[in-house]
Amino acid sequence: MRDDIIGILRGNVSDRVIEAMWRVPRELFVPRRIRHTAYEDRPLPIGEGQTISAPHMVAMMCDLLEIAEGMKVLDVGTGSGYHAAVIADLVGPEGQVYSIERIPELVLFAKKNLEAAEVKNVTVLQGDGSRGLPEYAPYDRINVAATAPKIPEPLKEQLKVGGKLVIPVGSCYQELVLVERTQEGFELEHHGGVVFVPLVGDHGFHI
Ligand code: SAM
Repeated sequence: MRDDIIGILRGNVSDRVIEAMWRVPRELFVPRRIRHTAYEDRPLPIGEGQTISAPHMVAMMCDLLEIAEGMKVLDVGTGSGYHAAVIADLVGPEGQVYSIERIPELVLFAKKNLEAAEVKNVTVLQGDGSRGLPEYAPYDRINVAATAPKIPEPLKEQLKVGGKLVIPVGSCYQELVLVERTQEGFELEHHGGVVFVPLVGDHGFHI
């Protein structure tokens, strides 16, 4: 159950991330008929051909971003709303998460799940997150949970100096990339192979 996941994460990510994952009930973010599988460490189907990411991947991405209390975070690819809920826990009540999803049915699903989990500091919007969300920019952190052909320029531009962005990049072979905006430009770190659904949009894949 929930303890199994925490056991897998311990020693691999920070205690802060583990505690946030412990507090957010993943079973409220998966379809009712598969709730008994909610604490398996793998992606699960959420409808519309999309998935909720595996817990270890959510933890790893949150850990790489070093999310602190009070931050403003953009989350691209809301899906079930689970990843946004973990980020919301990490930024705390003084922080804010803007989460954008392309598929209207999933926007409704995520809003319902976040309400059931009593998460108050996530605003879910429908749209093409490959363009970012300029209305609320700049962001301290940007989390992208779908793979892009290359790092979308609008997302880089919407980062604060000192801000960080994590994103899977590639199609057949995908790699998790951490981008940090510095005074001079952008620094990239590569964090190994991953498997994500495509980021579909103007600065993503044109499917
Ligand atoms: N973070 C999600 C969760 O916790 O359940 C899982 C994300 S799922 C792996 C990727 C999501 O990205 C899908 O729901 C998909 O519809 C969405 N997506 C793909 N392209 C997008 C785009 N351009 N803008 C916003 N969402 C997009």
